[in-house]
Amino acid sequence: LFIALEGGEGAGKSTQSALLVKWLEEQGQQVLLTREPGATDLGKKLRRIVLDPATGDISHRAEALLYAADKAEHVDSVIKPALKAGAVVITDRYVDSALAYQGSGRDLDSSDVERVNRWATDDLRPNLTILLDLPPKSGLGRFEERDRIESQSADFHERVRTAFLELAAAEPQHYLVLDASLDRAQLAQQIQARLLPMLPK
Ligand code: C5P
Repeated sequence: LFIALEGGEGAGKSTQSALLVKWLEEQGQQVLLTREPGATDLGKKLRRIVLDPATGDISHRAEALLYAADKAEHVDSVIKPALKAGAVVITDRYVDSALAYQGSGRDLDSSDVERVNRWATDDLRPNLTILLDLPPKSGLGRFEERDRIESQSADFHERVRTAFLELAAAEPQHYLVLDASLDRAQLAQQIQARLLPMLPK
């Protein structure tokens, strides 16, 4: 079972993924929590490059390819082996982040970004994507220091949010869209209710 958590900055993905791991373990599941970018040795280096404000402006295609390279390494060396071993894999960010940030945020052609990402992931898709939806203003307000992407314009972050919601609306059976302004216990409960019938026996 492969689950992706998606959402804008400060939506509470880390909190919910930690709560989800705890609950899944209580259900007797073997769980792997991972994230993008930066889950592998290569990914950590790529994460530093893409998020360091000192990187400055780089080609948007180059940026998309750096994230895609992180993803390819992540899928091949972390996600696929864990799924094969029977774990429930939860990834904090996945292809939708690329479609939202590099596609809509940076204004690259969405079918190009999609093609590159399908290739990077060997077309491995989550069984369910949990979208924690929050107005960018509330999310970004939670940070004092911002990385190179968080420092983008308000407009950029609005496009990202809209893109996430549109992806979910296009394939509602594969998504759980949640209002991330709810308290953490309520959110966790909604996630558990949706996942319970999906758990491997
Ligand atoms: O999830 P986390 O906050 O650790 O993500 C790190 C940063 O990478 C965030 O600023 C996020 O906006 C950015 N990001 C991105 N494109 C992706 C994945 C993450 O711009 N495909």
